Amino acid sequence: MKEKERKNRKDEILENFNKIEEINEYNKKDFVEFESQTNILIQKIYEIFKRGYICDNCLGRQFAQLLSNMDNRKRGKTLRNFFAFILDFCPLNVELNNFLTFVFRNEKIKSKIESIKQNSGKNICYVCNNFFTDENLKKWKELILRKIKSSKIEFRSYVVGTKLTEDLAKKEEELWEAIGIDLCEPIKTEINRTIGKEIEKELKIKANLQYPDVLILLDLENEEVSIRINPLFIYGEYQKLVRGIAQTKSRRYENSVEEIIAKELLKMTKGIKTKFHGAGREDVDARCLGWRPFVIEVIQPKKRYINLKKLENEVNKSKKIRIRKLRFTNVKEARELKEERHDKEYRVIVICDKEINKNDLKELKSIEGIISQRTPLRVLKRRGDKLRKRVVKSVKAKLLSKNSFELIVRCEAGLYVKELVSGDNGRTRPSVSEILNCDCETKELDVIKIYTKN
Ligand SMILES: [Zn+2]
Repeated sequence: MKEKERKNRKDEILENFNKIEEINEYNKKDFVEFESQTNILIQKIYEIFKRGYICDNCLGRQFAQLLSNMDNRKRGKTLRNFFAFILDFCPLNVELNNFLTFVFRNEKIKSKIESIKQNSGKNICYVCNNFFTDENLKKWKELILRKIKSSKIEFRSYVVGTKLTEDLAKKEEELWEAIGIDLCEPIKTEINRTIGKEIEKELKIKANLQYPDVLILLDLENEEVSIRINPLFIYGEYQKLVRGIAQTKSRRYENSVEEIIAKELLKMTKGIKTKFHGAGREDVDARCLGWRPFVIEVIQPKKRYINLKKLENEVNKSKKIRIRKLRFTNVKEARELKEERHDKEYRVIVICDKEINKNDLKELKSIEGIISQRTPLRVLKRRGDKLRKRVVKSVKAKLLSKNSFELIVRCEAGLYVKELVSGDNGRTRPSVSEILNCDCETKELDVIKIYTKN
């Protein structure tokens, strides 16, 4: 019995011993991993300190991918402290200018540092030329604030951009070549963020990376600040109440929906010009009695938070167009709007070259369905010859005289209605002319409804 107990005990110990072995084996592997990884890290720091004096920001920035919620200056400070320990433990050949504030126990380092302190002036960071000193940041902040004040540009959001000097860009590249880029952040990003925060504190407005009102641009080469104003986008809907005006400004027509709005808008915003984005467009000689969505863009507006109700009232005094539902928007909606395809309802006054009656008009119902349309002859000079198919969804006709009638057509976006009436020498089929077996022309054309989503 005793013998058996003893054997069990021995097994138990052996088993435990094996476990310990296993654990040690595991620890060993862990440690090998740890050693090689920390070696990489320490070698990077060593490389950086070997090359000359570097400031906390530039040091920390090379490790910006490690630890969040900490700025590069603090990262740099921490790493410098850490490396000072290593240095006191194991004196390495690095630029001791980096450690003038430390008191080392290692006599050799201590005396070297004493002599450096006696002989050297101010340290200059070999990466940023001391861009990140409090003094320099303050200088840029003041430059910016002065620029903002003198430019009289109104803005509520901004983003900071930086044009580096060639020298700075080169120095950063050189360092990256030596230590790799896997943990770093570009100097531009840090400058933009640091300056952005300074301005934020001062102006109490937030940086906005997506749709900033302005871009504050630092030109480090010329030590200059410029403010680039982003366009202003205003959404609205318009009606064109008279014929003979174009939708957008052009040399061929003396007036346009755009210009009528722009006249007031440029006065209010002090912008230099406008761009007009319509959800489709009607012909110059057609009225648009349905409300057509648009976005008008103002280039370089000095004032942007204008009273839109006032703009609406001023524009509506023109009596040529009416606008409504104005609101501020962004470039994204302007782009989307141009892509939108809405059904339209038209009212057309059609003149025929022979007499017609009510029964003839009943035949027109057969035009509902798919229409094959080659690019109209009247626009062929400007656009390529293409065959398009568009659907006429409904038609209603009402006789007005013995050779004229009113046609109400609902159709898909992109259908040329005048050609639907005339047939355009057989380029549009079927057509009103074809069905009535005579020549039909459009006398008046109005867009009476645009089927927008809202
Ligand atoms: Zn620096």
